[in-house]
Formats: sequence, C-alpha cells, structure tokens
Amino acid sequence: MHTNKCKTKESRAKAFRILTLICSNSQKVREKVYSECLLNMVSMIERPESFAHVSETESRSLYSYCGLKNLGATCYMNSMLQQLYMIPSFKYLLMSVTDGKDEELGTVELENSVYHNKMFDDNLLHQFQNTMAFLELGERPHHNAIGLCFAMKDYSGSPTNCSLQQDSHEFVNLSFDRLENMLKPTVQRHIISDTFSAKQCIHMTCSNCNHVKSVIEDYYILSVPVKNLNNLEDSLNAYTDGEVISDFRCDNCEQKVDISRRSSFVDMPNILMVHLQKIVFNFDTMMNEKIADRFEFPTYLDMENYTINKIAEKYGINDPDLYKYAENENKSFDYRLVGVIIHQGVAEAGHYYSLICTDSGLENKEDGFWNTTENMKWTEFNDTNIKDFNFRVNFEDECYGKNSSDAYGPSFRDADGFESWGAATGGSSKSAYVLIYEKRQYKDVRM
Ligand SMILES: [Zn+2]
Repeated sequence: MHTNKCKTKESRAKAFRILTLICSNSQKVREKVYSECLLNMVSMIERPESFAHVSETESRSLYSYCGLKNLGATCYMNSMLQQLYMIPSFKYLLMSVTDGKDEELGTVELENSVYHNKMFDDNLLHQFQNTMAFLELGERPHHNAIGLCFAMKDYSGSPTNCSLQQDSHEFVNLSFDRLENMLKPTVQRHIISDTFSAKQCIHMTCSNCNHVKSVIEDYYILSVPVKNLNNLEDSLNAYTDGEVISDFRCDNCEQKVDISRRSSFVDMPNILMVHLQKIVFNFDTMMNEKIADRFEFPTYLDMENYTINKIAEKYGINDPDLYKYAENENKSFDYRLVGVIIHQGVAEAGHYYSLICTDSGLENKEDGFWNTTENMKWTEFNDTNIKDFNFRVNFEDECYGKNSSDAYGPSFRDADGFESWGAATGGSSKSAYVLIYEKRQYKDVRM
C-alpha cells in the first residue's frame, strides 16, 4: 500500500475496493492493514475539538448505544444479545478471549437467503466477540450480526434461518452450551458457568422407604412455570416443589414406587436468568399458545427460601449426604432486577425486545452501595430502536401483562386462560418473558 501508486480517482477507488474485499475475507490481512497502515495514518489526522454536526443516520443513537438490525425474525436473538452486552463482567471477559484459531471462512449456497454470496468466519466464539465489540465500539447506529447468525447453526447444522421466529431462552441454552465447549482450552473457560450457571440439587425421595437420591444439575437459565400462577414466588415454589413421578424403580428398596422429585439451589450465579414458561404446547389444539394472564415479579428477589438447606428443612428431605452439597453454598441470596425481555404478540407470531437497566455494573460495589432498580436509568432496546424507558411509570404495564378482564373479553380466552388467535388480531399482548437478576455480592470468576 504505497501512497505514490494509484494517482487517479478511478484507480484509487478500485484499489480501495480490492483492499476492502481482501480485508473483509481475512482477519490476518485486516490486522496487518490496521496495525501497519491505518494506525499510522490515523495518528496523522488532526482531530477537531468537537464535532459541530453529527448525522443522525450515520452515528450512534443519542443514547450512545448501538442497536441490532433485525434480519427477518431475529429479534429473539437481538434482545438477548443486548442483555448480555449490558453485563460488563461478562462482555469484557468474553472479548478478551484468544482461542488462537484462524478464521474458518464459510459460505452457504442459498439463493434469496441473507447469506447469499457472502463469506463469514464460521466460529461462534469469534462472532460473539465480534458482536460485543461492535456494540461497544461501532460508530454506526446499529450493527448487523449476520456473521453470528451464520455461525449459530441449528440442530441440522444449517446457519440460522433468519426469517424463522425462535425463542430467546433456547438461543441462550444452545449458544452457551457451544461457547462453553469452545472456551474449554482457554483461561476464560469458566466465564459462562461462573456468571450464569445456577447449580441445583435434584432430590428424588422414595415414597416407600424414604430413601433420597440427590444429583447436581447446572442450568444457564432457570425455566419456571407460570400457568395458573400469579407471581414469581408462586412459580419458584412450584418449581422447587417439583412433581411426583410414578412407577419409578427405587435403587434402595428395589420396588416400583412413586418418587417425589424436588429441586433446590446449591450455588447461586452472579446473573440469574429466569425464563417464564408463557409459551406452552396445548395438546388439545396441538399448537403452541401463549399464557397472557397478569404475572408479577419483584424488583428485589431473595432466593434464600429455595436454597438446599431451606428446601431440605421445608420438605423434611433426609439425605445424610446433603451437607456435601450444601457446604459450598455461598451466603448471598439478594438479587435486583436489571433486565427484562418482553414478548409481544402471540406464540407463533411475536416480537421480542429488551428493557435494560443501563446503570448496572457502574457502581463501586466494594463500598457496599447498591442502588435501587427503580432509581436507576432504564433503556429500551428494540432492534435498531433505542430509547429511554421510564421504569417508574411504565414497568408494570410493559412487564406484568394486563389483567384478563381489562385486556380481552371472555370470548377471547378459553378455560385455561390461553390467549386465542382472536385476541391476537386485537394486537399487542405484551409481558415479560425472560428476567435478568443481578446478585448483590458477586463471586469471582475463576481464571
Ligand atoms: Zn425405596
């Protein structure tokens, strides 16, 4: 790249085009161009003290956040990516990972698809890092995360079908599972588990001999029932109370018996994500349907009642090994709400967007100060649209959902409280779908 070549306007334009093409296809060339050419040039540019004009269409939003382009029906992904981006302890650690892998350029021959005629680095970790970096540093008002969609393969190994509506909570489970595998050889291998994993103990108690079998399970995102329940406390009680499984063969008395399967928490994550089971399969209609009833959850959440010691006490679970699991339990159970993913519409044709506390993570936690959720700044991230969210005024209406009596007439609901297609045409049942809670006392991420 010698400046004395390409002297005409046309040749310069062509050379620039060649350069951008090479750069867009190779990380190595991009790094070389950046470090050996651009950095020197940038340092020669005289910077004005302040810009007199900022074009609204070409710069970041007034709120200094970067939106995400919706590639058809990718709002389920966008809303979750913005939530992840707004967790400082996670995004910076993720961006700092070096896996030592070269780009694995991939393409897919699909006419009319968003991927047509394009090449992408087929590495989910790189693409997550890339997206976080653009959200952090990009100068445009929004970023196109098409590379991430490409690297995020479905169960059949095909790139994400961007026109197919999917589920925010499944996106987390699938992508975190794969990212954890990719992070294994790196020093940052614990960032996902230490930030998000709720470690639970499943207690299976035999109704015949009272023998308890306990197993530990990890979840990135807690999925709780909401049907016929009024609030998160009821959901967590139902979740830990569990269910009775019939015809189970007990290891101890070797009989076919009823088993009570209960859950408790052994270790609480820094970031607790809770998926509300509002979209459920209705076996009568053989279709997914949305539970649109009002459902409340607190801005402050105390999880102590659901921990292993409390649950064992509550249900009289008599397992001599419980202390083994309980000894690692840390003593912090206080959470505050820092994000909500809203689902708007019906089960098969909905839209997701995010409400996020944009002050979280900025306090100095060392001094013990913990601001109240209601007093912090909240922002709505709706694909490319970003705007202030007035938490005090609009929180309940956006998040809890309407009472069935004021939202729809009785003719729109069936006996189970399901929202029918008739109600859908009326517009916009919206309410919380995923909740993001932040723990008061973070534990360190192992490195
Ligand atoms: Zn038994």
